Amino acid sequence: MKYISTRGDAPVLNFEEVLLAGLAADGGLYVPQTLPKYSKEEIASWAGLSYSELAFKIIAPFIAGCVSDDELRVMIDETYAGFDHAAVAPLKELGTNEWVLELFHGPTLAFKDFALQLLGRLMDFILQRRGEKIVILGATSGDTGSAAIEGCRHSDCIDIFVMHPHEKVSEVQRRQMTSIIADNVHNIAITGNFDDCQEMVKDSFADQGFLEGRNLGAVNSINWGRIMSQIVYYFSASIALGGPHREVSFSVPTGNFGDIFAGYIAKQMGLPIKQLIVATNSNDILHRVISNNDMSKSALKHSLSPSMDIMVSSNFERLLFDLYDRDGQAISELLGRFKSQSVSLPAEQVEKLQSIFYSVSVSDEQTCETIESVYRETGYLLDPHTAIGVKAARDKNVDAAVPMITLATAHPVKFPDAIVKAGLRPPVLPDHLSDLFEREEAFEVLDNDLKKVHEFMMSKLS
Ligand SMILES: *Cc1c(COP(=O)(O)O)cnc(C)c1O
Repeated sequence: MKYISTRGDAPVLNFEEVLLAGLAADGGLYVPQTLPKYSKEEIASWAGLSYSELAFKIIAPFIAGCVSDDELRVMIDETYAGFDHAAVAPLKELGTNEWVLELFHGPTLAFKDFALQLLGRLMDFILQRRGEKIVILGATSGDTGSAAIEGCRHSDCIDIFVMHPHEKVSEVQRRQMTSIIADNVHNIAITGNFDDCQEMVKDSFADQGFLEGRNLGAVNSINWGRIMSQIVYYFSASIALGGPHREVSFSVPTGNFGDIFAGYIAKQMGLPIKQLIVATNSNDILHRVISNNDMSKSALKHSLSPSMDIMVSSNFERLLFDLYDRDGQAISELLGRFKSQSVSLPAEQVEKLQSIFYSVSVSDEQTCETIESVYRETGYLLDPHTAIGVKAARDKNVDAAVPMITLATAHPVKFPDAIVKAGLRPPVLPDHLSDLFEREEAFEVLDNDLKKVHEFMMSKLS
């Protein structure tokens, strides 16, 4: 499979190159040149497969030519054997036509493990084969960091640096990153917000001279490998509920637009999805664009769902690329303007956008109410991100006759503050994390200053 950049001015690459490159040289994001498409009959024939077998079916075409089938199968099997539920991504029924898809059974208790456990293995395999090393620089609003570190910590070919916004992630999230003490793992707390961290990652890709010849890689969802791995559970959930012969809808708590974009790709590949709901917290730019064609930045707010405290959603660019019929120049021009001003989309693009997505923005107060009421009604404890998805799924404009699957993106134990605010008792940490609060931590606090970050990185690399 070949991959092209959303800004139309970077070399066409294969999977291996895309996996290692992260951001495209023109500042764009890589997407497949064409997608595999499946008929209802083919999708129906996958009904008896295990999660790993299904993952192999979906992922193999994206990787074809770079890793052999046997090698890929081993990596996928190892990845999902590390999850603590036999179904890997089990569905739980909350009520009539109301389901949650539990994506928190991986080692770091959030959906990021689905992609990053596999990505770490793929990168390590390819780097070993090439006899190369890579420096990974990531930005995290909380969960990507720990999942990426967990995915890469055992690789001799990878040095990983993760920036998180200082004092703006939950303590469980921070400790999951900073208590991994290894020579190749480096945590940086930036005195700024997530967008500042993400901007520094993008700027580092644009000018990699500071690395003196080393290669820079990405584990944020700008990396296509992340999206690819997340397509699988849309298929598994749909098939479990009678798809493809029965349509389902998905409600997705959204920050960087990665997870929901994987749902959009699943739909493009032939999965019958009725509605895709973009559920945001009070950082609601995506909701404003979809509902009101208002793509304007506002000040980032610190919410009870920190993993979604994002204003500039990098993956939205991949969707825009499709909305503009893959016109890279138009995207380059639009996003160039968006750097310094508000933009709106032409009527044709808005119409397409609204035909695919519906959006809802949920406040902290509504998040707590939802956690409390769902617990009271069903005994099921939602994490604040998932609660936003459930609240959006219950919106009056959503078709209640179609089974609705909300992605449960994290385990509630990661966000005790929100659970307590909802008037409930937080759950206890699972066994493998039970001593998390006693573990030693290592991280460097740095100003929101790219030069200082680069100096710190070089001091650790040499
Ligand atoms: C990362 C994350 C999200 C947002 O996912 P995106 O792919 O960035 O939209 C939502 N919930 C949790 C718990 C997360 O960790």
